[in-house]
Amino acid sequence: MEKLEQLYEGKAKKVFKTDDPELLIVDYKDDATAFNGEKKGTIMGKGVVNNRMTNHVFAKLEEAGVPTHLVQELSDRETLVKKVSIVPLEVIVRNVAAGSFSKRMGVAEGTELLCPILEFSYKNDDLGDPFINDDYALALGLATQEEIDTIKAYTRKVNEFLKGYFLAAGMKLIDFKIEFGKTSDGTIILADEISPDTCRLWDVHTNEKLDKDRFRRDMGNVEEAYNEVFKRLGLA
Ligand code: ADP
Ligand code: UDP
Repeated sequence: MEKLEQLYEGKAKKVFKTDDPELLIVDYKDDATAFNGEKKGTIMGKGVVNNRMTNHVFAKLEEAGVPTHLVQELSDRETLVKKVSIVPLEVIVRNVAAGSFSKRMGVAEGTELLCPILEFSYKNDDLGDPFINDDYALALGLATQEEIDTIKAYTRKVNEFLKGYFLAAGMKLIDFKIEFGKTSDGTIILADEISPDTCRLWDVHTNEKLDKDRFRRDMGNVEEAYNEVFKRLGLA
């Protein structure tokens, strides 16, 4: 399958048309951004880690009963995926307090939550992805009740799978963000990526951060952290 016209260049990936109107090619870059694009940089090799890790995880999630956009890995950085219209919700799950939750709620980072939290942000860069709830999504027509129910059920499955999967590799899944899309027949499937850009992962013994927070917070050893995750998952 060949890349045709570029449809979109985002902060971390480029998206290309193919000769099949139902399929796209995603090309993962090493570019990194944080704070809604205010901070920019490069994480060498990130595109390879994020592409291959996403595909590996998506294949496992398919087996666990979560449909995804994955069709075929084409190279270290490129993957053939089903074209979807993205549901404009950032679906976030939190198992342990961190990041914006800790700030907003005044709860120290690392505090275990009594149950997982599933929350939505409106995927809109101009507005800085504001925090919303189900009623906002329904009232603004971002998704139907049925779509929200499907997205929540899949998301809880993704969390249960990922927690065990990362723990077996010596990492705690603190929180993560996923995106869903609709295929041309309206089916909801998991899209975008699952990687150290979109998950907070801490070493299970030392709580060392092995994710994009090292870039956001100028902690150093950013490439090393991405490579460590890759290695622990047996992908290196
Ligand atoms: P951003 O748009 O936030 O800068 P990326 O650089 O990751 O993010 O760009 C990839 C874009 O492609 C995102 O907007 C994402 O929602 C979208 N996308 C991911 N998977 C698919 C898919 N299967 N079909 C269509 N669009 C997708
Ligand atoms: N996240 C993401 N993209 C975003 C916002 C958040 O992938 O645009 C991920 C982030 O990596 C973390 C989780 O979602 O794993 C929760 O992020 P939070 O709301 O705490 O925001 P942040 O602290 O990243 O601003």
